[in-house]
Amino acid sequence: MSPERLSEGDRSRFETLSVTYGEEPDLSNGMGDVTVPIHLASTYAVEGIDMDTGLDDLDPDQDQFLYTRLSNPTRHALEKRLAALEDGDHAMAFASGTSAIVSTVMAAVEPGDHIVAFEDLYGGTNTMLKELFRDKLNVGVDFVDAADPEEVAEAMTEDTTLLWMETPTNPLLRLCDIEAMAEIADEFGALLGVDNTFMGPYFQRPLQLGADVVVHSTTKYLNGHSDSLGGAAITSDDEFAEEIGFLQQVGMGNVLAPFDAYMVLRGLKTLPLRMRQHAHNASEVASYLEAHDRVKTVHFPGLESHPQYELASQQMDDYGGVLSFELDGDLADVERFVANLDEFTLAVSLGGVESLLEHPASMTHSPLPEEEREALGITETLLRVSVGIEHPKDLLEDLESAFEAIGAESEDAPETAASMD
Ligand code: PLP
Repeated sequence: MSPERLSEGDRSRFETLSVTYGEEPDLSNGMGDVTVPIHLASTYAVEGIDMDTGLDDLDPDQDQFLYTRLSNPTRHALEKRLAALEDGDHAMAFASGTSAIVSTVMAAVEPGDHIVAFEDLYGGTNTMLKELFRDKLNVGVDFVDAADPEEVAEAMTEDTTLLWMETPTNPLLRLCDIEAMAEIADEFGALLGVDNTFMGPYFQRPLQLGADVVVHSTTKYLNGHSDSLGGAAITSDDEFAEEIGFLQQVGMGNVLAPFDAYMVLRGLKTLPLRMRQHAHNASEVASYLEAHDRVKTVHFPGLESHPQYELASQQMDDYGGVLSFELDGDLADVERFVANLDEFTLAVSLGGVESLLEHPASMTHSPLPEEEREALGITETLLRVSVGIEHPKDLLEDLESAFEAIGAESEDAPETAASMD
């Protein structure tokens, strides 16, 4: 099957490419596996000594492999599929989302350069930009509210080589306009990188909107089953791909292992089915929470009350499976609420088939200083939910019983305390 472009309006190709692309059965060995085998070999026999063939001439598409860190057939199959799904020419699979981000940022900057990034980023990326790029590698870093393109344009300087975005963000589900970001980046001769982990390529394709590179934590929706750690970078810029590939294979050697490449290939086969159910369930949960009198605010781009609902509807094909909400109460109420849930597991991470819930102030965003968290709106009563693909009725009933429990326990609390005197 040829890697046809996933042009807009041809989303049906996505579902077909997710299942088979990059994994065509190979009958030349007399077997014809319909799924790519997990190739564990670290090294490959070569035909003979050939002084004319350098490493650069080895072509995985011609089944020429030398050493697994450089290229591996299982990883290569995944990289082909990821490039097709994100509508890019090159994909590189990494040992984690973090290693995909560090290699991509490293490929885009040199000491003395400057990065402008969304202030509301995954905590690990925020820390990496500050403590590695700014403090150790002498790269200037400014964080801005990228929901406002004017703030981004004002922060750009002649040294800015990279604009780094997530949309929607974690945990407040704020958006930036990818097309507007691409225009600003172009104007300053900078590259635009978008972490597309929260939406995935089924709902949002930043390269089509002008981004130069897309990264993923494949740990989340792309693998989708909370049982593999990985990452990826996808771009159509040949020169940038070469720089990222150098870091992946030689400069850092942070490649995805063959077993995990197989897991992600397998997860991708059901990506469209899972994403549709995640989005459906998240929208049910968001509407339920919005109507509840013990909920102060719900952050979900699919709610008309979301301040960027219009942008979300233009830029994304659906609204994803992650939301956050603020409970009307105090930390003790949050603790009781969480303790009374059965279907939602208290755990970090997201994008798996099971529903997870986490408390950003004490979990994912605890490395941020308290003032920074508060300035961002990450309060003690904020909970982030990764809505799974279970039956929505069970999820809503579970939430209802946890709300009932905090209602009852809050009223009982003074009595209990008094009876202990
Ligand atoms: N990007 C986003 C948006 C994330 O949420 C995460 C992890 O939670 C990462 C990147 C890092 O990915 P990994 O944990 O696979 O290194």
